[in-house]
Formats: sequence, structure tokens, C-alpha cells
Amino acid sequence: MRALRLETPAPATENPLTLVEIPDPVPGPGELRLRVAACGVCRTDLQIVEGDLVARRLPVVPGHQAVGRVEAIGPGVDGWRVGERAGVAWLAGTDGTCAACRSGRENLCEAATFTGWDRDGGYAEALTVRADFALRLPEGFADLAAAPLLCGGVIGYRSLRVSGIQPGGRLGLYGFGASALLAIQVARHWGCEVYVCTRSARERERAASLGAAWTGGYDEVPPVTLDAAVTFAPAGSVVVSALRAIVPGGTVAINAIHLDGIPAFSYDLLWRERGLRSVANFTRQDAREFLSLAAEIPVRTETDAFALADGNEALRRLREGTVAGAAVVLP
Ligand SMILES: [Zn+2]
Ligand SMILES: [Zn+2]
Repeated sequence: MRALRLETPAPATENPLTLVEIPDPVPGPGELRLRVAACGVCRTDLQIVEGDLVARRLPVVPGHQAVGRVEAIGPGVDGWRVGERAGVAWLAGTDGTCAACRSGRENLCEAATFTGWDRDGGYAEALTVRADFALRLPEGFADLAAAPLLCGGVIGYRSLRVSGIQPGGRLGLYGFGASALLAIQVARHWGCEVYVCTRSARERERAASLGAAWTGGYDEVPPVTLDAAVTFAPAGSVVVSALRAIVPGGTVAINAIHLDGIPAFSYDLLWRERGLRSVANFTRQDAREFLSLAAEIPVRTETDAFALADGNEALRRLREGTVAGAAVVLP
């Protein structure tokens, strides 16, 4: 099979991914091999490829939003048949035994492994996945359209849940990239009024077209007090802006893996039970809930497709911010 592999992390401008021809991976006990039809390109991939997230093994095939069909089934797998469609997301495995796993918080498992970081991901014609971590995808989404749901979509959904936003509530979204684009559709489906702050005029237009009640820049204050907010921008100052905008008792959920820091702010902003929570990964239950909701709404995804051989280009465009919608590679 052909695969795009990372040997040595380097800036995306230096074409760090190499197109290689390697044998098809063999599914071990409890695993499936999927023939990949599409794989989303995520900012986390960029961080791994450029070395901002330290590689857990090299070489590694990145990509953790893969849509494919079951092609081979390892020993001891129940419930999957050859030819069925499946999705592979960031969470590749957990121990299933620790306190976090046993309390429905497998996203916090210390022994968790991740697709495209600990094991080879979807920038390839095939990949293997633990059968119990493969996700069933709803009908109604083409392979290309389903790929962006698997990371940005699910993590955006978890962020909404962590923020505690209730149906009909007033929600702030700070930053409006691929994940927020899907989160706003869920929030609107729940009847929320959505207030979007983002730097980009193009993103403000897109938010308005998806039903935002108001849009503005990061330094602007929404015209109403918000019940909850989610920040997507990788900038700590945005977290403070969001705190400033929410009601006592409200929560700001931070959907960003990397934040340089949060500037010092007055305790008054936190006083009266305002909360600040980060969002780390997601559980399979989050994925199941979101995928079913995405089909029910139905959520619309905007994609920008790249050939597998153009994976470096996709990462560069993501870094430059010139991808229209969510980048997806098609092996
Ligand atoms: Zn991701
Ligand atoms: Zn665990």
C-alpha cells in the first residue's frame, strides 16, 4: 500500500511527509484492517508532523479521522463484517481498567493510545484499528463528508457538553475553525442563541450564514450576557474575553490542546462560581452521541480534498489558514 509517513518532524514547508510503498498492515487479535477512503487533516497532525507534539514513535503515519471499509478481520473480533464502513478517530485504545475508564472518562486514561501518534493512522491506503475503538458511521454522509466529523465534530460536541450549555441558552463561540463550524450546527439544533467572536471577517460571514445571532472580533463584547462559552482559538487572552462575557455560574470550556498560557486576570471574572474547564480528547460515547446527532440534524460539512500525494500541501495550507472548510486526503 501507499502511505504518507513521517520519518523526522520538520516544518510543513519542508515536506516532512514521504510517500512510501509498504506492505499492508496485518490486523492482530481484536483488530480490523480498513481500506481507507478518506482521512481528515487536523491541526494535531500538523503539531505532530512539525514536532510541537513530541513524536511517540517514528516513523509514523499520521491521520486520525479515517473513513474506510473493513477489509480483513483479526482473530477474536465480534460484531464486524468485511465490507462494513467504519471510522477511526484519535482515541486508539485505553486499558479499560483504570479509575478514569471505569467511570466513563476514558478520555482521561493515562494508558490511552492515539491514532497517528502511537499507531499508524489514515494518511495511507489502509490501516489497522482496535475493533472495539472503530466507530460505526451513519448513512447519509459520503466518505469525504464524514471524515471531518471524526475529530473536530466530536471534540466540538464534547466541548458543548463540558460548557454546560442548555437547549435555548446563550452560547459564545470564540474562534470559528473546522470544529466550531460543526459545533454551531449542534447548538442551533438545540435552539441556542449563538454569539461568535473571531478575527477573520470570512469566518464571521460563515458564522452568520450558519445562524449566529451576532458576530464580532475577539476584543468585542457580545451584546448579551452568555450562559456558557467555548474557546477554540489557541490564545489564552481569548479565554479571558470569554470569561468576561459569561453569567455567574457559567462555564468557559477551552477546546485547545496547546495554550501558551492565560494572562493574569481579576478574580472578579471568576467570582460567583464562573468555571473554566479544558477539554481533553473524547470518549467513544461522545463519538456515538455526536455521530447520531450529526445524522439527525443533519450537520453539513465543508471539505477541501487533497490527493494522498499532496498531504504536505494540505498541512501547509492548514498552517497558512487557506483551507476552505476541513482538509481531507483521499488515498
Ligand atoms: Zn484531531
Ligand atoms: Zn484507563
